[in-house]
Amino acid sequence: METLKNYIDGNWIESKKAATIGVENPATGQIMYQVPAGCKEDVALAAEKAKQAFPAWRNTPATQRIQYLFKMKQLLEAHADEISTICTHESGKTFAESKAEIVRAIENIEVACGIPVLMQSEFSEDIAVGIDEYMIRQPLGLGACISPFNFPVMIPFWFMPYALACGNTYIVKPSEKVPGTMAKIFELFEALNLPKGVLNMVHGGRETVDAILEHPYIDAISFVGSTAVAKHVYQHGTAYGKRVQAQGGAKNPIVIMPDADMDTAVKIVADSAFGCAGQRCLAASIVITVGSAKDAFVSKIVEAAKLKTTGNGLKGADMGPVITAESKIRVESLIQKGIDESCSLLLDGRNAQIEGHEKGHFIKPTILSDIKPGSETYSTEIFGPVLSITHAESLDEAIGIVNQGRYGNAACIFTQSGSSARKFRHDAIAGNIGVNIGIAAPMAFFPFSGWKESFFGDLHGQSRHAVEFYTQTKVVIERWHDEWSRKF
Ligand code: NAD
Repeated sequence: METLKNYIDGNWIESKKAATIGVENPATGQIMYQVPAGCKEDVALAAEKAKQAFPAWRNTPATQRIQYLFKMKQLLEAHADEISTICTHESGKTFAESKAEIVRAIENIEVACGIPVLMQSEFSEDIAVGIDEYMIRQPLGLGACISPFNFPVMIPFWFMPYALACGNTYIVKPSEKVPGTMAKIFELFEALNLPKGVLNMVHGGRETVDAILEHPYIDAISFVGSTAVAKHVYQHGTAYGKRVQAQGGAKNPIVIMPDADMDTAVKIVADSAFGCAGQRCLAASIVITVGSAKDAFVSKIVEAAKLKTTGNGLKGADMGPVITAESKIRVESLIQKGIDESCSLLLDGRNAQIEGHEKGHFIKPTILSDIKPGSETYSTEIFGPVLSITHAESLDEAIGIVNQGRYGNAACIFTQSGSSARKFRHDAIAGNIGVNIGIAAPMAFFPFSGWKESFFGDLHGQSRHAVEFYTQTKVVIERWHDEWSRKF
C-alpha cells in the first residue's frame, strides 16, 4: 500500500520514521493509503531548507511573489473536481461541500494577491525639522500551519498564501486523517516552479506538531483544531518564543426570535447543523428559541432534519459520515449523555445503517430538546450531526444563555427586528456574528474572528490580520544633513 511522502525543498522525500497511520475512507471503512506518523528529523529537514530559501524569497519583489499565487488559483480552479473527489474520499463530506472549500481557498489566494497594497505602511514627514519617520513591514522568516481534518483544502489557505506573499517561506502540516488532499494539491503546485524550499509539506501527528512548536528556525505558527490541542500549541509554541495563533473548538448558539421568518430559519439551521455531518466549527449546535418561537420552530426543524439524506458523499447524499469509528462512538455517547441529563430525544440518528456502506461511520440527524444551560450537553462540543434545543422567555435571557458557553466562535440570531439584531450583535460574546445567517463564515477579506476558548492569540487568520501576523514592523527615523535642514 502506498505511503505518502513529505514535500521538502522541491522533492518528494520519504519520512525518516518508519511508522505509518492508515488513512481511511469514512464512508466505507476502507484504508486507502498510509501517511507517515512523522518525526523531528522530517521537520528539521524542512525547516533547514525553508530557512535557506528565505533570503532570496524575501528579496523577490512582492509583485513577483504574487505571480505564483495567480498560478495557484488557476491550478485549484482547473483541478477542482479531482481535488474534491480525494477530499470526499478522505473526509466523508459531500462532493459539493468539498468544492465549496476550494472556492474559499481561492478567495484567500485572491486577497493575498493584493499584498503589494496590503503590506504598504505609514510615513510621517517632518516629525522634527528635516526628520522623517516611517514604518515598514518585513516578513518574519519561516512560518508553519497545522490543520484539522474537517477542511482538508481550505484551512491551510487561511494562512499560507499570505505568509508566502509577505515573503516568508512555509511548511504545511495536514491532518493525518486527511493528508491525501493536500498531497494532491502539492503535486499540482509543482507546476508553479516556486524556488525550492519556499513551500514545503511535512506529514504526521503529535510528534510532528511538537517538533514544529520547538524547532528554533520556525518563527510563526498558525493552528486550527480542537481547544485542548489549540491550548497546548499556544502555550508550548509561545514558550519556545514563537508567534502563535491557535483556533480551537466551538459550540455555536442560534437564537430564534418569535418574529423570525420561520421557514427560512428552519431551512438555514438544518443546513448549518447537519451539513458536513455537523463537523464544521461554525455549525449550528444549540438553538435557543425565544417565547412563542418554540412551538413554531421545533416541529418544523424535526421535519426538515428527517428529509436530509445520509450516505456516500460522492453519490448525491445530503450528508456523509463522521470521520472515524471513534468519533461515531463519542458522538453517540454524547447523545446518550443528553438523554441521561433528561433532554427529550426528538430525532434519533444513532445506529444508522446505510446500504452498501455497512463499515461506514454514519450517524443520521439527531435532535435533543430541553437541554439545560450549564449541563454537559450544553457545554461539550459534539462535532457530529446533533442539534440541541433550549428555550428562553426573552432576548435578554437568550443572550445570557449564549454568553454562558465556554466557546466564542460564532453566534447567530434569526429575527425581523433591527433592534433585536443590534442588541444581539452588541451583547453576544462571540467573534463571528450572524444575523439571519446560519454559518457566519467570514469572507477572506475579513478575519476569522473566534473568541474565548475558540481562539488563543491576538491576530486571526485571513485578511489584514494574516498579513500582520506574518510580518513584523520596523520603524525608521531618518535625517539627511543637507543645506536646507542645516538652516534651521
Ligand atoms: P485535533 O485538535 O484533533 O487536530 C488538529 C491538528 O492537531 C492535527 O493536525 C493533529 O495532527 C494535531 N494534533 C492532534 N492531537 C495532538 C496532540 N495531542 N498534540 C499535538 N498535536 C496534535 O482536531 P481535529 O479533530 O482534526 O479537528 C476538529 C476540531 O477542530 C474541532 O474541535 C473543530 O471545532 C476545530 N476546528 C476549529 C476551527 C476554527 O476556525 N476555530 C475550524 C475548523 C475546525
